[in-house]
Amino acid sequence: MSTGHLTIDLSALAENWRALDAMTDVETAAVVKANGYGMGSGVVARTLARAGARRFFVAVAEEGAAVREALGPGPMIAVLSGHMDGDADLIRDHDLTPMLNSVDQVLRHVESLPRRSFGIQLDTGMNRLGLEPDEWAALRDVALKQMPVLIMSHLACADEPDHFMNQRQLTAFLEMTAGIDVPRSLAATGGLLLGKDYHFDVTRPGIGLYGGRPYENAKPVVTLDLPVAQIREVAAGESVGYGNTWTAQRPSRIATLAAGYADGLFRALSPGIKLYDGETPYPIAGRISMDLITVDVTEMDPERKPEVLTLMNDIQGVDALADVAGTIGYELLTQLSQRYKRSYIE
Ligand SMILES: *Cc1c(COP(=O)(O)O)cnc(C)c1O
Repeated sequence: MSTGHLTIDLSALAENWRALDAMTDVETAAVVKANGYGMGSGVVARTLARAGARRFFVAVAEEGAAVREALGPGPMIAVLSGHMDGDADLIRDHDLTPMLNSVDQVLRHVESLPRRSFGIQLDTGMNRLGLEPDEWAALRDVALKQMPVLIMSHLACADEPDHFMNQRQLTAFLEMTAGIDVPRSLAATGGLLLGKDYHFDVTRPGIGLYGGRPYENAKPVVTLDLPVAQIREVAAGESVGYGNTWTAQRPSRIATLAAGYADGLFRALSPGIKLYDGETPYPIAGRISMDLITVDVTEMDPERKPEVLTLMNDIQGVDALADVAGTIGYELLTQLSQRYKRSYIE
């Protein structure tokens, strides 16, 4: 084994979807953008379709085409970037539902693909995508005649339940959609956890499915094992790795693992994280380099020659690692290397 190995627990994924679904009385979709948050969008989508998901969200049309290949006809596949210039063929050929997010996109869609499925994105304050209240007011009657299948907006601060922005956006969404008889969606994982007022007709969790905050009770989905390339003796006073940042205080043993920041293991993870041999933690020694990580295994039984050490497991999950690197679980998951071998357990 020469590359890291991701083990993705599909039953944990499905359980997370069912648990989030059980928290609402409405339909629960699944967000599978960025290759299913790094886990493989086809397998993830098929697993969640079996669990009961009937709507899937991706970021761009190309991702939607891949998910359609995996799912076959039937489930709705919504494209969050809407109908971008040049997307008409992909949208038509793969039966995608663009979430139109500007006046230009609405015009582009009804002109190039009349009578084909679409949704509308409204901006309720995040100022990233979506029609502003005045644009929507001007376009609303025309757009509704074309029969959108979903009207949605997105919360900027839903991972902070007490943030004033949540209520402000909720109020804006209610005002902008008053009297409209089209299914509505406002909540991603964070919004789903804010409670019933935020659920509307469809929720759109992503990160919670994959075991990340803010869904604290999520089942961990990913295990990451890194192969041990060698274990070497280092004398007291010798140093390890770039910049000599680690010096042996005693005769030591160093395991060199075949993964590094080129595999999405940010250099900022260097101080503080552990590599596990089963349940036993060993500290990193020195800096993470591009393709290698060095670990102080002096305390390990010298007879033991583990093939792998584990970086991500139930003890040290994605959020714990993200905290050390000063980032969020989303970033860590979506940077998981294409070099890793992925295997799936049911
Ligand atoms: C990414 C995204 C989601 C999913 O968000 P999570 O925080 O991962 O649950 C839902 N809706 C939109 C518009 C998004 O961009």
